[in-house]
Amino acid sequence: MSDYQLYHALGQGGPNDDPSNPNPSGQPVPPQFQQPGGPAPYQQTGANYNHNPQGQPQQYGNPQMGQPAPYQGQHDQGYATNPNQSGVSQDPGLASQMGGLGLGEAASHGRKKKKDRHAYHTVEAPGGSSAAFNGMPQGAVPASAYLNADPSAMPSAPGGQFMNQPVTPQMSQFPAAANAPFNPANPTSPVEFASRNGTADQAFGASVQTSAQGRVDPDQIPSVPRSRDAISQYYLSNVYPTFEHHLPPPASVAFVAFDQGNSSPKFTRLTMNNIPSTSDALQSTGLPLGLLLQPLAPLQAGELEIPVLDFGDVGPPRCHRCRAYINPFMVFRSGGNKFVCNMCNYANDVPPEYFCAITPQGARVDREQRPELMRGTVEFLVPKEYWSKEPVGIRWLFLIDVGQEAFNKGFLEAFCEGVMVALYGKDGSEDERKIPEGAKVGFVTFDKDIHFYNMNPALDQAQMLIMPDIEDPFLPLSDGLFVDPYEAKSNITSLLTQLPALFSQVKNPEPALLPTLTAALAALEKTGGKIVCSLSALPTWGPGRLFLRDDGKQHGDAEKKLFTTEHPGWRKVADKMVAAGVGVDFFLAAPGGGYLDIATIGHVSASTGGETFYYPNFVAPRDSAKLSQEIMHTVTRETGYQALMKVRCSNGLQISSYHGNFIQHTFGADIEFGVVDADKAMGAMFSYDGKLDAKLDAHFQSALLYTTASGQRRVRCSNVIASVSDNAKDCMKFVDQDAVYALIAKEAASKMTSNSLKDIRGALTEKNVDILAGYRKNFSGSHPPGQLVLPENLKEFSMYILGLIKSRAFKGGQEPTDRRVHDMRMIKSMGALELSLYLYPRMIPIHNLLPEDGFPDPESGHLRMPPSIRDSFSRVEEGGVYLIDNGQNCYLWMHAQTSPNLIVDLFGEDKDTLKSLDPFSSSLPVLQTHLSAQVRNILEYLKTMRGSKALTIQLARQGLDGAEYEFARLLVEDRNNEAQSYVDWLVHIHRHVQLELTGQRKKEDSGDNSIASNFAGLRPPYW
Ligand SMILES: [Zn+2]
Repeated sequence: MSDYQLYHALGQGGPNDDPSNPNPSGQPVPPQFQQPGGPAPYQQTGANYNHNPQGQPQQYGNPQMGQPAPYQGQHDQGYATNPNQSGVSQDPGLASQMGGLGLGEAASHGRKKKKDRHAYHTVEAPGGSSAAFNGMPQGAVPASAYLNADPSAMPSAPGGQFMNQPVTPQMSQFPAAANAPFNPANPTSPVEFASRNGTADQAFGASVQTSAQGRVDPDQIPSVPRSRDAISQYYLSNVYPTFEHHLPPPASVAFVAFDQGNSSPKFTRLTMNNIPSTSDALQSTGLPLGLLLQPLAPLQAGELEIPVLDFGDVGPPRCHRCRAYINPFMVFRSGGNKFVCNMCNYANDVPPEYFCAITPQGARVDREQRPELMRGTVEFLVPKEYWSKEPVGIRWLFLIDVGQEAFNKGFLEAFCEGVMVALYGKDGSEDERKIPEGAKVGFVTFDKDIHFYNMNPALDQAQMLIMPDIEDPFLPLSDGLFVDPYEAKSNITSLLTQLPALFSQVKNPEPALLPTLTAALAALEKTGGKIVCSLSALPTWGPGRLFLRDDGKQHGDAEKKLFTTEHPGWRKVADKMVAAGVGVDFFLAAPGGGYLDIATIGHVSASTGGETFYYPNFVAPRDSAKLSQEIMHTVTRETGYQALMKVRCSNGLQISSYHGNFIQHTFGADIEFGVVDADKAMGAMFSYDGKLDAKLDAHFQSALLYTTASGQRRVRCSNVIASVSDNAKDCMKFVDQDAVYALIAKEAASKMTSNSLKDIRGALTEKNVDILAGYRKNFSGSHPPGQLVLPENLKEFSMYILGLIKSRAFKGGQEPTDRRVHDMRMIKSMGALELSLYLYPRMIPIHNLLPEDGFPDPESGHLRMPPSIRDSFSRVEEGGVYLIDNGQNCYLWMHAQTSPNLIVDLFGEDKDTLKSLDPFSSSLPVLQTHLSAQVRNILEYLKTMRGSKALTIQLARQGLDGAEYEFARLLVEDRNNEAQSYVDWLVHIHRHVQLELTGQRKKEDSGDNSIASNFAGLRPPYW
């Protein structure tokens, strides 16, 4: 990627490529830098706890128990992979193909002795890199292994005094423009060019090799947990400088980004941070060129707030030709009178009020005082011309289902409770405002009637107004619907407390949802705002009534229709909401796990930029806590409304498509959201409209125009830069694996309504083969033909794609359409962290914790997290207890032979058998035992590493709880979810890579017009 110095002249050497390979001058942590895992929220070890000096491991770890035989046989589909026992997932015949021996040969010699199992995994690059796989980050990296590491290849620049200085947010970021700033008009010198593109010619790759017998050692295939854990250690004590390093940390790792003018990966991730100069070169990589955006992503402690800049009535300076916003990569010249746009190269006049002289080197004198010229992500307050209506504090309108199912299941009570916690804190007495000044709330309840409430604080109590005509809903009150929740607190709490009792006598079985949404839209039409709606039964009453479309018997094209809605009423209300700046979050509980037509109902939240929280089998004692926390999250996360977004890119590239949950009226138009929040991500794909100049960089800018919850109209701008290379091999060194599979996942999800699931799975497989075959063909150097060679930065890519194929959205076999549609829309809107966990859950053994695990490290204060393990039943130990978290649900799985001591330590004196536990526990009791403190601390940490869903635990006791099946489903390395084990998957992919290399590959789906052939924006962007 582009050289830091060209823009900022920090003087410090290298754009270092791989975050896992700390820069020789690695950035020490600034003083206030705080990782999640700091001591504050955690229990400390101490006298309070029965600290067992012997340590727990011996106590719980390996009880001398008999074989738990029943389990493995019982769920052969779920648990398959102990290679030494069952050999199921490790079909030796397939494994042998990986070794290049006996393609297609059967499993006959599978049980050969272990003697030849010296399979290994290597990385070709010099020493440092292979260590990177096994437990980096190591401190000292052989310089030659990395781009630009050779100082002689660096442009010499003053500023060496900054070389080993910690970069801290307090520091002025860019000391001085000491050498000529980047100017698109000036060709780069060869030295600069080399410094950007690297001179070393190394192969980047990892290979999985097999023994002569073709066995694959499952320990040696790339491990997601190992790579996550290793890198997360590095980022405990190092920041990620966004300009100097060009490969972002994995999304599942906590890190502090330091914005140096290039936007943080939390907001923007490019699939490739070094872009091939031609479309053909990109195609040779098989990779998509795209940008994953999460414009309002949450910051973590230690990161700088996003600056909010006010340019008054004239608004922020923008390019007159392409309308790009001012940013750190625009170049000032003509004594400061012109600025050259980094997107379209147009030389704009600097508006007089923005004029400032420039230094002889071309930097504005006031540069350091100008966040818009220093930071990759900034917000601009914008004047009236950016308004479509007067911006006001956000209106939250709660639509509460008070029908029979909602009451009977306890969903009504739990929902009301959740809203109160969201507004007033746990015991209702917290003084701190949970929603900003100016924001207001309103309440509507519905069954087959719709009831509005006048909450005016001047009234003694809330007044109910029934809207009698649901065929033609109108707004029965003009005042008092929306109130400040703190002024009207007593009316609100008494209403929410009384609602369950109030409707306990009514119990209408059939809710009328569409008329309620229409009425809510009428209430919000003037201002825009956000609807939070609960629902516990299929809305079968009134206009827009729905019926049981899915009887579980429809497949293929008929099933596809169930993934979307053609209902004009529902589509219309969604479109009108977006136009009015309104969006919806749904909280849906299916009656008895039944059908809700989420395809139709959820269409309203998906197209308005909202979210659907779905409780397929809501059980109040177990799920109320999760519901409550999720309502709280919805109300308190960063939320904006009435939003428009546009991504711009520099000449030579163009947007080919957007993926996510929004409305785009015509191709090329801005994408529109009724609402947008911190958890929502979207993808933009690019195509070429010419050849890029490798001497120049490629620029990207996303601009989100929205109204904040506090009522300000703003534009949030994120700027990203990538270098361009004529040699696509160089580009492979800067591939961001998380961005690649995230964009592929979003694109695949957007195809669910037009292609069959089988075709989509086929396309994902083809895409995986294309990428690995492209690498093998063009970039990997020479290897024995039988070796599977994986690009270093895409080592775990195949595992993530397998996780995607096993997801509820795409998996083979039977799956209720509600669940498919829900997961499909979720994938479209998920950010990188949430998606990473969703595709590869985190699994942590807790029966063999070290005594210091789960407590803050005394020196650094960071919580010591125990290592996570591969998601495979072969890793499960007898007597073992495991947490598995996919970012949606967290299960506590307990082996049938779990030690009674462990159960007592975790659940209390009176609980010493699995059977004695309450199956509906959703949290662990606070106990004065070492283990209890450890596990509760670990859970607290996991809560900080998620997307929009709350973390509560659900018990999955072996042989006792239905949740065991869910646990089994999450073991994505095993053969399950109608798909192969990880080992077999790699063998399968490898076989197809070999066929491709020998010209014998047949596409898995139907020929030239296959969806795979133009998947991920490579060929024509539309299917
Ligand atoms: Zn421009």
